[in-house]
Amino acid sequence: MGAADRTSRQAESSTEILVVGSVNLDLVLTLDALPLPGETLYSRSSRRSPGGKGANQALAAARLGGRVRLAARVGQDSEADQALALLREDGVDLSAVEALAEHATGLAIVEVDAQGENSIVLVPGANLVWNDLGQTVALVADADIFVCQGEIPAEVVDAVSSACSPAQRLLLNLAPVIPVRSETLRCADPLVVNEHEGRAVLALLGGDAVEEADVMRDLLDAGVRSVVMTLGPRGALLGDADGLRQVPSPQVEAVDTTGAGDAFVGGLALRLAAGDDLDQAARFAARLGAAAVTRDGAQPSYPRTVDGLPSPT
Ligand code: ADP
Repeated sequence: MGAADRTSRQAESSTEILVVGSVNLDLVLTLDALPLPGETLYSRSSRRSPGGKGANQALAAARLGGRVRLAARVGQDSEADQALALLREDGVDLSAVEALAEHATGLAIVEVDAQGENSIVLVPGANLVWNDLGQTVALVADADIFVCQGEIPAEVVDAVSSACSPAQRLLLNLAPVIPVRSETLRCADPLVVNEHEGRAVLALLGGDAVEEADVMRDLLDAGVRSVVMTLGPRGALLGDADGLRQVPSPQVEAVDTTGAGDAFVGGLALRLAAGDDLDQAARFAARLGAAAVTRDGAQPSYPRTVDGLPSPT
């Protein structure tokens, strides 16, 4: 897609999505099997690609026409250029991405096995250094919907969410789970977690349910406005004042599940910003998540058009 197409496509969407989150360079290693403790393995191949949950979610939404601004921290290094390349290409507003002289761009070591399962080690670097929080909080005023994840300090997420007015919407993807304030959790609409994160977030609120539906109900009973629990190939569970319901995911052949959750969140933000209700937005997000697992990598796997997105059978 050319720059002119992108500009006209973005002009159609006036709702701003602000993503406050992480930027990483991913070092992706493909292996026959994930290493066991004490084991040394050769990788079949390695590649570097842009990543970080904030960057991935911003890109997933922008590639499908969202007007997206990213607030993030990177180092003043060549890794930052690589990490921001696709965001730049796809028109994400990077004016709130600060390059810090004393810190390195975040690094994620992503190991993918022959079944497409992954395990990840994060070296957070600049993602944890937010000295001018006031500037970031001020950005919230311009956003209609804003999106935070768990790869930045809990204080940043708390500060941003406390600036949220009733007319705005916080999409909180608490991955990984960090100890945000309970007020922040209760602001989330929706809170997006996978099943493991759901249990861990509930523990922050003093709950100990284990079954997926019980975790959802207890999160809602604790005051979270709405919850989306992503369940891999099983799609997602939604919960709000209208109760719980299931969202199916299209059945696809998984090549690499890296970044599927971020595609889901980016798609959810895009459709909520466009005025969909939570059910419609989650159905779209599940299709985008499924599309992302059919291709290698995180950001490179995100589509630029909805044509050909898989549908549930
Ligand atoms: P996370 O990576 O954060 O744990 P999930 O694995 O639940 O997130 O994936 C997010 C979404 O992507 C799911 O809700 C689903 O819609 C889609 N998805 C993930 N894996 C698959 C798969 N193997 N087949 C079809 N859809 C998938």
